[in-house]
Amino acid sequence: MQGYILDVKKAKNEDCVVSLLTTEKIRILYRFYGARHPIVTTGYKIDFEVENDSVQFMPKLRNITHLGHPWLADLDRMRVWQNLVTLLYRHLKDIDLPGPFYFDLLERYASIWHLQNPKRAAVEAYLELLRHEGRLHLPDDCFACGGGLDDRCSLIRAFLPAHPHCVIAPKFRTEKIREAFEALSTIDLEDDEVEMLWLTMCEGL
Ligand SMILES: [Zn+2]
Repeated sequence: MQGYILDVKKAKNEDCVVSLLTTEKIRILYRFYGARHPIVTTGYKIDFEVENDSVQFMPKLRNITHLGHPWLADLDRMRVWQNLVTLLYRHLKDIDLPGPFYFDLLERYASIWHLQNPKRAAVEAYLELLRHEGRLHLPDDCFACGGGLDDRCSLIRAFLPAHPHCVIAPKFRTEKIREAFEALSTIDLEDDEVEMLWLTMCEGL
């Protein structure tokens, strides 16, 4: 079975509890410590087996193989990837069966993660996620007061659009945000705009 490590929590004796996103669901598995075992790290894709032991309270994670990506040794890319995966973990952790969309999203973005600024890729992945969940709101009306937006808008958490005077949040040109949201692309956004979107995303998906 294959999955992405969403989260690793320490348990007793250096054992850990690992949350994995597979195509089917999120699996929470117990990992016994072993000096020669492969390291389990948030964001890694692994092949693994599940051992169901009737005595144990939690199924065990066994026979791990890392499935590498060429950018894993690039610390800056890896850090943004791990941030994205951790945001996804917090977003999904109470959902038993999130469906294949989220696994497929990580698969696609992992395969292109080395090609551009990873924060651009992360913002584009988030736009896809918002649209998939029916939460991507074009900048027409202000989320705070309901009035129509003008040529400038602000985006709060979940990229909800608002008047700049109604919220405390980064400001953007409304048309650029509209184009980015419609195309699910950051190609026409400047690096500083992408950075502001990334920081907004980091408040939680
Ligand atoms: Zn308003």
